[in-house]
This record gives sequence, C-alpha cells and structure tokens, in this order.
Amino acid sequence: MYDYLIVGTGLFGAIFAHEAIKCEKKCLIIDKRDHLGGNIYTENIEGINVHKYGAHIFHTSDERIWNYLNQFVEFNGYTNSPIANYRGEIYNLPFNMNTFNKLWGVITPQEAKEKIELQKKEAGIKEPRNLEEQAISLVGVDIYQKLIKGYTEKQWGRAAKDLPSFIINRIPVRFNYDNNYFNDKFQGIPIGGYNLIIEKMLEGCEVRLNTDFFSNRKELEGLARKTVFTGMIDQYYDYKFGLLEYRSLDFQTEVIKENDNYQGNAVVNYTDRETPYTRIIEHKHFEFGTQKGTVISKEFPSEWKNGCEPYYPINDQRNNELYRQYKVLADSEQNVIFGGRLGTYKYYDMHQVIASALVTVEKELGVEILNEK
Ligand code: FAD
Repeated sequence: MYDYLIVGTGLFGAIFAHEAIKCEKKCLIIDKRDHLGGNIYTENIEGINVHKYGAHIFHTSDERIWNYLNQFVEFNGYTNSPIANYRGEIYNLPFNMNTFNKLWGVITPQEAKEKIELQKKEAGIKEPRNLEEQAISLVGVDIYQKLIKGYTEKQWGRAAKDLPSFIINRIPVRFNYDNNYFNDKFQGIPIGGYNLIIEKMLEGCEVRLNTDFFSNRKELEGLARKTVFTGMIDQYYDYKFGLLEYRSLDFQTEVIKENDNYQGNAVVNYTDRETPYTRIIEHKHFEFGTQKGTVISKEFPSEWKNGCEPYYPINDQRNNELYRQYKVLADSEQNVIFGGRLGTYKYYDMHQVIASALVTVEKELGVEILNEK
C-alpha cells in the first residue's frame, strides 16, 4: 500500500513526492502524458530545449524558493527582455524609456511623463467602462494602439471594447532604460533544462506515465491511503456543477536548419491585430545556444473546449463562483489533497506553485522546509 498516490508530475506533484519520500513515505506518481514535468517540460529538438507548452522563464524575489530550486539545478543568468514587433516597428518591453524614445523621440523621463499625461488628458476618460478605456486612461492612446490593443484582443479572442476593464488594473511603465521584464531579484533558465529539475525531484519515486487517473480511478485510488490530485478539479467531481473554463493555446513549431539566428531574441511579441499569433519564441536564446540551426514556435491563442489543453483559467465571476462550489467539496475530503494550477483553478507562476506545494507538504507531513536553516 502506498501512502500517497500523486496525480500529475508537474512542479506541484513532483515537489510533493520528493518531500514525502524524504519523510520515508511510499509514493506512486502518475501522469497521463508520456513525459514528466507537466507544463515546464522541454522537448529536445536538434539539440535545443524546446518549451513545448509555452515559454517558461523562472523568476522570484523569494530567496527561500530560489535556494530550494538551486538544490536541484543551477540557473544560467538569462534575463527576460522581450521585444514587440508592431507592423515591422520594433519596441522594447516592458514599456520604458527605450520604448518612449522610439515612439515619440523623447529623451528624458520628464518628457516621457509629460507625453503620457497629455495623452491621458486628451482621452478625457473619467470612468473606464471597458478594457480599451481603462488602458487609454492609464497610458494614453499611442501605447495602447500599438502595443496593447492587438495583442490583448488576440489573447482573449474579443475586441478590447468588449472586455471588462478589471483585466488591466495596472500597466507597468518605467521611466528608465531598463529592458529587464521582471522586477524580481532572481531569474533564469535551469542549466541543463527544466526536465532535470523534475528528474532529480523524482529520483527514487515510482512513476507511471501514460496513466490517466480517470481511466482507472477505482483501482488507482485503492493503491494508496491518500491522493494528491493536480488535475482539473471539476473533472474530479465529474463536472457536477458545470465546466470550469480556460483559454487555450496552439503552438506551431518549426525547425530551421539553414539559419542559426532567426530573430535575435528569445521572445518577440506581435502586437498588431492582423498577425494571427501573439508571439514567436526562439528557444535556443534561452540557453545562449550556439547550435547550427534553430527552432521557433508561433503561439496562437485559442478557444478552449473540453479536451483541449487547459492553459489559463478564466477567473471571471461565473467561473470563480463555480470553483467555489467545487472547493467546498474539496475542503471536506479527508483523504484527497488538491493542488497546483488545475487542482485549485488558479494561474500560478512557477515560484508560486513551488511555494504552494511546499506549504501543503509542510502541513501534511508536519515538517519545516521553507524556513529551515
Ligand atoms: P502542471 O504543470 O500543469 O502539471 C499537472 C500535471 O498533471 C500534467 O503533467 C498533467 O498531464 C497531469 N494530469 C492532469 N490530469 C491528469 C489525470 N487525469 N491523470 C494523470 N495526470 C494528469 N511560470 C513562470 O514562472 N514563468 C513563465 O514564464 C511561465 N510561462 C507560462 C506559459 C504558459 C503558456 C503557461 C500556461 C504557464 C506558464 N507558467 C510560467 C506557469 C507554469 O507553467 C506553472 O506554474 C506550473 O507549470 C504549474 O505546475 P502544476 O504542477 O500546477 O501543473
């Protein structure tokens, strides 16, 4: 008999398994996919680690989380500095003095502030009624038109005028020349790739891939005293209150053998409405790759239907209310622990899911990990 059946080999499941095994618990971890790692998995194509489920850049300001991950891998010092391509015009992101200089020719922070203030004033929006008005009221019409509108409309599959204003509460604007996207103290890509983290976490753990919990639920549940479930919470309860909704993505990946540098940067956002994809990722740049060819992935946002890959939870009122009903059931379970982005219907960055897994483990196993000396 196992102590834990862990459903899902993503970060949440792998951390739980790793720590439980350290406490001499017997664990079986399963995944319906044919590989470990959940969405941080990378596929080796032509010697390049290809982020199969979307570009993943680790970042955190929490030194405890950073130290925790550094037990398994070192990081390569990669800094995320994405570029925006608007109909062939190139801008730096996040919005900073380089962006403002390219847009308006301004040189000083004072000039940039005045330009934005002027545009906000000209727009005259007092109470934004939708995302378009909200964005213009925050950064003015030029940044909105060239760098926000098309990208956001593609992402959500709807006109910005039809999207609620609360989606954009804040637009980070920097009045310096810093192109580093994240404000965090630590960031990077693991040396050797993300798969190495999960492989190391799961050393000594019994793993079954190509195993869907729902194809053999009774038998699998019968193997362990408790289940740690990181799949979709609504599916666990047979969708009894209804389906939780997601946004999905399709990736078109191309191997380019005759070119070793397709776009000169790992991430290029296409911010016009007409280009059907939102980003092109050139994977080798995450690891300063020197391979002869290159691999790129175009990212197409798509409607989610049950059966598609669920990427981003849609935390609107309807879905949050639905989740709340499932959570009431989950909270009353004695022998099931729900975790991870699908088990708790929450968008988590990696550092957040790691923190959440460690807090869960600490509570379940009565150990101290995050604050141990
Ligand atoms: P997952 O990684 O999804 O793992 C869940 C696992 O459970 C999967 O392997 C799945 O196959 C398995 N599973 C589900 N149902 C079943 C079942 N019925 N039976 C068996 N197995 C099952 N975070 C960052 O910090 N930086 C980034 O740059 C970043 N980029 C992202 C880009 C995209 C497009 C997305 C969607 C997310 C991104 N994230 C990023 C977030 C990151 O992917 C998550 O924080 C992390 O992967 C969540 O881990 P998890 O274990 O909760 O879930």
